[in-house]
Amino acid sequence: MEDLENLKAAIQGKKILLFGPPGCGKGNRSRDLEALGLVHVSSGIVLRAKVCDEPDSELSRKASHLMERGELVPDDIIVPIIMEHMNGTECRTNGFVLDGFPRTKAQSDVLFSQAHIDFVLYLDVPRKFLLYGIVEGNRRICVDCATGYSDFDPPKKESVCDRCGGKVITRADDNIKIIENRLALYDEQTKSFLPDIASKANVEILPIIVSDEEVIDDKYLKHLKGQVYRVETDQGGRARMLNLEGMRNRLYNLLAEKFM
Ligand code: AMP
Repeated sequence: MEDLENLKAAIQGKKILLFGPPGCGKGNRSRDLEALGLVHVSSGIVLRAKVCDEPDSELSRKASHLMERGELVPDDIIVPIIMEHMNGTECRTNGFVLDGFPRTKAQSDVLFSQAHIDFVLYLDVPRKFLLYGIVEGNRRICVDCATGYSDFDPPKKESVCDRCGGKVITRADDNIKIIENRLALYDEQTKSFLPDIASKANVEILPIIVSDEEVIDDKYLKHLKGQVYRVETDQGGRARMLNLEGMRNRLYNLLAEKFM
């Protein structure tokens, strides 16, 4: 597709930060950006890989204990790991999409003092959907490539990743109690410094909610049990939500407007 090739060329080398609460779709948007050539740098994936590769190290024991409870890993552990990735040749050549970092103001200060971020995408998703999507929508993730699924967007074959054939599992920290803790931490420690980020970089909201007035093909909307799914918004109204394909299109359109 010619437009996609042009978009790839236009965003080559860009440094994009995805910002938003747990369950807002940062992982899948990262996949979409990876498909355009950016390197996916996910603090959660990097930490899970460290714990898996070196289970007996002190760092892994400390990190896994905190991750299981939905607590944040200390800045002095996560900051050097992420900065090392970002400063590697692959990220410097291709550009990257940062997912799950920064989560504290201290992490943000280090990031913005050391890197020029071209663009911050804020994925603002209604709170009701975050809980519903993760817990009742039964969120699951590919252990190999971290593609996310749920009952809204299930893999074609249960437990097998459409993208890479890897095993699709439910994350141990995706249960209601831990999710509530992760969301509370997001509100306290992460969302609070978004205004500071907005003073340093260009922040844009990726709108993934579709009002009833907006005309859109049903095939771009989330369905559950054959019906278009409606979510309660934070303002109390109801709206439809884009599915994976709809979100990808919207993301690519936004990037094309910005960079082409
Ligand atoms: P995620 O896959 O992004 O939801 O991250 C899973 C877990 O890893 C989080 O609940 C935290 O325990 C830890 N973690 C990931 N990123 C960070 C970060 N930037 N700062 C501190 N802890 C993090």
